[in-house]
Amino acid sequence: MITPVLPTYNRAPIAFVKGEGSWLTAEDGSRYLDLGAGIAVNALGHANPALVAALTEQAGKLWHVSNLYRIPEQENLAEMLVEKTFADTVFFTNSGTEAAELAIKMARKYHYDRDQADRIEIIAFEGAFHGRSTGAIAAAGSEKMVKGFGPLMPGFRQLKWGDHDAIRAAITNKTCAVIIEPVQGEGGIRVVPDQCLKGLRDLCDETGTLLIFDEVQCGMGRTGKLFAHEWAGVYPDIMMVAKGIGGGFPLGAVLATEAAASGMVAGTHGSTYGGNPLGCAVGAAVMQIVSDEAFLDAVSQKAAQFRQGLEGLVASHPSVFEAVRGQGLILGLKCKASNVDVVKAAYAEHLLTVPAADNVLRLLPALNIAQADIAEALARLDRTAARIEAA
Ligand SMILES: *Cc1c(COP(=O)(O)O)cnc(C)c1O
Repeated sequence: MITPVLPTYNRAPIAFVKGEGSWLTAEDGSRYLDLGAGIAVNALGHANPALVAALTEQAGKLWHVSNLYRIPEQENLAEMLVEKTFADTVFFTNSGTEAAELAIKMARKYHYDRDQADRIEIIAFEGAFHGRSTGAIAAAGSEKMVKGFGPLMPGFRQLKWGDHDAIRAAITNKTCAVIIEPVQGEGGIRVVPDQCLKGLRDLCDETGTLLIFDEVQCGMGRTGKLFAHEWAGVYPDIMMVAKGIGGGFPLGAVLATEAAASGMVAGTHGSTYGGNPLGCAVGAAVMQIVSDEAFLDAVSQKAAQFRQGLEGLVASHPSVFEAVRGQGLILGLKCKASNVDVVKAAYAEHLLTVPAADNVLRLLPALNIAQADIAEALARLDRTAARIEAA
């Protein structure tokens, strides 16, 4: 018999009732160390006092008014994002998937308005993840996500990871945009080398193709810069943001240059909830903390400590772990054992991790995780590996 909750998820049989920082308390009162952060969402940990204060203060004033009116909290957050990024303008959504939808629409409209209505093709990469709408699954194109849901939205093609010549050959006078995650999350924590992002930018400039970065998972301070692409010094025309920006409150955004966004005039797009006062008040509190240089430096320091420990685990458990991947606090352990088995063994050590494709164990702790908690996480990962070795 079907469950009251549509059974589309493979859930672990654990339920949490309370969180504090990087720790979660389960129904039975036991505590778990959280290296998943709700899949990179709880960027500032659970029940962060600054975010609780921002949420409750706004909750007592005003939750929702609709985009029929000016929303000062939305204007404030947009100004913060514009000030700190390449972008000139921002549209707020409730999720990463909705950000993907707008990014696609915006890119197509850009060419349409320039009398190039047939420039509709969007190039994506194998292993990519952009969300679960019909458009986003068509973009990523993986068999697992699209099977049974056709016909798919036309106008997407996927290229092999890291094949430069293929990219050059694939861009034609029908190409609208290239969409890429600077660090692939679901695909297995694969970092796009700086040189590749630079090459892609040059190719897009040469051909008038728009470059879309999906920083839904790798953005908002996770790599130790506010956005991952800053490491390469390569800037997109359009960028999708979500996950960490709300710190657990559903919030997403599309950031764009004035030129890329020029077609999105009144009436071309909208969202009932997108950018409501509650979400934007929380988003501003997150931005305030995460965009601070000292905070970002601390992320890099913690990441260095964590990474060094992980390299040690690879060396001491070669039959379980193969290599460390990632940048900042979006880290992956490429596994020799099954990553799903490792996730399960970690539950027994009361440690929460997330599997990713390519047999990778994903580690996405809160960006403000304490150094002592990193040490504890490494000890628990060590015992997790010992469990696998003993099995
Ligand atoms: C999670 C994710 C999305 C989809 O975001 P949702 O909020 O789940 O709709 C899109 N792109 C990337 C890179 C993601 O990690």
